[in-house]
Amino acid sequence: MFKKLKKFFYIYILRKKYYRTGSCLGCGRCCRKIYVKHKNVIQTEEEFKKLQLLHPFYTYLKVIDKDETGLVFECTKLDKTTNKCTIHRTRPGICRRYPQEELFSMGGTLAEHCGYRLEPIISFDEVFNKISKKEYKKNKNISM
Ligand code: SF4
Ligand code: SF4
Repeated sequence: MFKKLKKFFYIYILRKKYYRTGSCLGCGRCCRKIYVKHKNVIQTEEEFKKLQLLHPFYTYLKVIDKDETGLVFECTKLDKTTNKCTIHRTRPGICRRYPQEELFSMGGTLAEHCGYRLEPIISFDEVFNKISKKEYKKNKNISM
């Protein structure tokens, strides 16, 4: 019962497609390779400079690369020796909520070996069974 309620809440109230499970292992990888999305994934330094005026978090980031997704940033607040965030207590909400499923919509993935998992709320089997039932009903109606 609790599982069903939880599923309903996530899908219809929170409008989520994934459950977040696991926990942070403190590897710091997600602070070393960051894409920034504001309407679209940021592609140029000019776009990024404008964005920096909107939220202090963006002033922590520096460009380290560019790939097929967009500009790649790393956060200057990461202590690279300990892999710890130097402003952990006051870190921005976006860092507190990481990882969120929106990551996928911008072409991103979880950092390698991240302790979190994003697991589909509706499993592949459930989707497959639903489609099979629909097809069965459709074919039955045609042959009648
Ligand atoms: S990549 Fe995952 S495990 Fe590593 S610091 Fe980020 S959230 Fe934690
Ligand atoms: S503020 Fe801290 S948690 Fe957020 S990206 Fe930077 S180092 Fe990581």
